[in-house]
Amino acid sequence: HSKAGGRNDFQFFDSAMKEHLTQRMLLNNGLQEALKENQLEIHYQPRFDAQTAALTGMEALMRWKHPKLGNVSPDTFIAIAEESGLILKVDEWGLNEACKQNKRWQEEGFPKIPVSVNISVKHFYQGHLVEMARHALEKSHLEAKYLHLEITESLFIHHKKDVIDTVKELKRMGIKIAIDDFGKGYSSLIHLLKLPINEVKLDRFFIKDVHLNSKKMVIVKAITDIANTLKLNVVAEGVENEEEWKYIRQLRCSEVQGYLFSKPLSKEEFTAFLRNAGAVQGQRPPDNTAVGE
Ligand code: C2E
Ligand code: MG
Ligand code: MG
Ligand code: MG
Repeated sequence: HSKAGGRNDFQFFDSAMKEHLTQRMLLNNGLQEALKENQLEIHYQPRFDAQTAALTGMEALMRWKHPKLGNVSPDTFIAIAEESGLILKVDEWGLNEACKQNKRWQEEGFPKIPVSVNISVKHFYQGHLVEMARHALEKSHLEAKYLHLEITESLFIHHKKDVIDTVKELKRMGIKIAIDDFGKGYSSLIHLLKLPINEVKLDRFFIKDVHLNSKKMVIVKAITDIANTLKLNVVAEGVENEEEWKYIRQLRCSEVQGYLFSKPLSKEEFTAFLRNAGAVQGQRPPDNTAVGE
């Protein structure tokens, strides 16, 4: 590299970095606004019994429609919010909204199924997760057994006493705890030992084309066996086709979630989905007009 080339490289990185930082700052400010201006929305993806495909629950997934940029992916805005600390407010909003909506569906007469809410690891270090969860349950009148919290290891989870105590207290309250994206985190297996969790969600990375990849088969089978032996629920994430499901079904995975069954649905779409599910399962749908007969 010549001296001049080096300097140009530096200038290039400098301006690219500035742009990157400006972009993140704009998005973070935008997100702050979004919280105030109702631009955030929760979508719900149903989950099912791996054997029978009966509806077992739903996952709350946040959506942001930026007035100028359009839909911003949660992978982008959650990461930015984690960096700035705004995630504490974002997750709190999502948790309250999901609890409220789940309770509403129960009151409307639909089958009572739990809602899983994604929670950033940041809450363990900077937030008041126990108080936040207690408050959300009180405000919504949702029973704790219908709330699951999914923790993704986007940051390292240490096993200091306060983290373990937080998980224990949530569990004592009756809330179920899942490790999300299991297998992709920093030290997934150690969590099984140290944290009193209820569930692991196998990352889609391992599910994708599992039927074509003998190494993935071995890993998925081993994790499922470990989880079953420890009496943990195992959910396969991101099941996209029949072949993947067939393999998952042969193992003792408890539940499945993925585009094969349903994409995440808006509140309104999920209501329609519940009506149809009720009709299929022979339960009386609460609104006769929605049934096509
Ligand atoms: P996640 O919790 O692992 O959620 C699963 C992601 O996979 C979702 O992406 C979902 O839409 C997608 N998905 C589901 N089935 C399939 C499938 O069959 N194929 C494929 N390719 N994808 C599938 P989404 O909604 O974009 O969310 C991305 C991540 O953002 C989530 O991953 C979660 O970690 C995070 N996230 C979403 N909402 C929240 C939230 O309210 N708070 C926090 N802290 N994180 C959230
Ligand atoms: Mg999740
Ligand atoms: Mg996941
Ligand atoms: Mg994920």
